[in-house]
Amino acid sequence: MIPRPFEYHVPRTLPEAIALLNEHGDAAKLLAGGHSLLPMMKLRFAEPGHLIDLGKLAELKGIREVGNEIRIGAMTTENELIWSELLQTKCPLIVEGARQISDPQVRYRGTLGGDISHGDPGNDHPALMLALDASFVLTGERGERVVPADGFFLSTYLTMLEPGEILTEIRIPLPATGSGYCYAKLKRKTGDFATAATAVILRMSGATVADVRIALTNLADIAFRATGAEQSLLGKPIDEQAIAQAARLAMDACDPVADLRGDIEYKTAMAGEMTRRALATAFSRAVH
Ligand SMILES: Cc1cc2nc3c(=O)[nH]c(=O)nc-3n(C[C@H](O)[C@H](O)[C@H](O)COP(=O)(O)OP(=O)(O)OC[C@H]3O[C@@H](n4cnc5c(N)ncnc54)[C@H](O)[C@@H]3O)c2cc1C
Repeated sequence: MIPRPFEYHVPRTLPEAIALLNEHGDAAKLLAGGHSLLPMMKLRFAEPGHLIDLGKLAELKGIREVGNEIRIGAMTTENELIWSELLQTKCPLIVEGARQISDPQVRYRGTLGGDISHGDPGNDHPALMLALDASFVLTGERGERVVPADGFFLSTYLTMLEPGEILTEIRIPLPATGSGYCYAKLKRKTGDFATAATAVILRMSGATVADVRIALTNLADIAFRATGAEQSLLGKPIDEQAIAQAARLAMDACDPVADLRGDIEYKTAMAGEMTRRALATAFSRAVH
């Protein structure tokens, strides 16, 4: 189908974008890479009268290290994440996750900020951000607020973004040196969303787990942390039994919906398997 007619705006500065967003209110939508928004417009699930393209805002681009965190502009594309030497060296989980998103076309245009703001539980960055303990800078007329990823996703397509706010920056604390990581994703074919996926960051202290974060994709109405599974591992050695127990606890936390990718039992079982694989790989990559 063809989208309904709209007016197209190309602000050159962030204040200009925020002013346009406030001027047009509910009738306006921000356009980032367009790979979620345009399909919805073509299906007429979204019918904005005004599109505000963030593509010319240089201040929303780039990846840099500031103090003990990595700061990524919301308009940074998936490929820019993948190609970043800084991320490859200091935060490879995000690179491993981005490499599994869709296909090359989507990764050239799709942005980190768009993937997060869309609030789709099938998107991969929400779980990656939860595992990485990220926070988000939301900017509006009254200035900036910084909110943790944990709590940002409220339900399907609903986030803490208020009308008039733009997600401008993603902040990720540098994972501790020697941390193991993995994003294990099951998808039916290239270009499909996850049937089930698990992100893990794991830090060992000698033979026992010092810190672990586990987050899952497309297994409930939002990406979520499997806190029961995390708790079961903390302070203990990692072995097959411990991983199997954590995978069972992650499965208990799932509440998927049946669709073409599988029924509830299958998706839940795959959540367990992805958690098992992600933990085993993260452990093999961790310094211990
Ligand atoms: C065939 C196909 C397969 C895909 N598979 C996957 C997959 O496996 N995993 C995955 O994670 N994603 C997948 N996607 C989605 C893709 O990653 C999108 O690019 C992403 O969801 C949205 O990012 P975008 O930059 O394209 O945003 P847009 O589509 O431009 O915007 C999405 C929504 O977010 C809002 N928005 C955008 N940027 C901001 C901002 N900075 N602040 C506030 N609101 C903002 C927009 O107004 C809109 O409502 C797939 C898409 C397609 C077409």
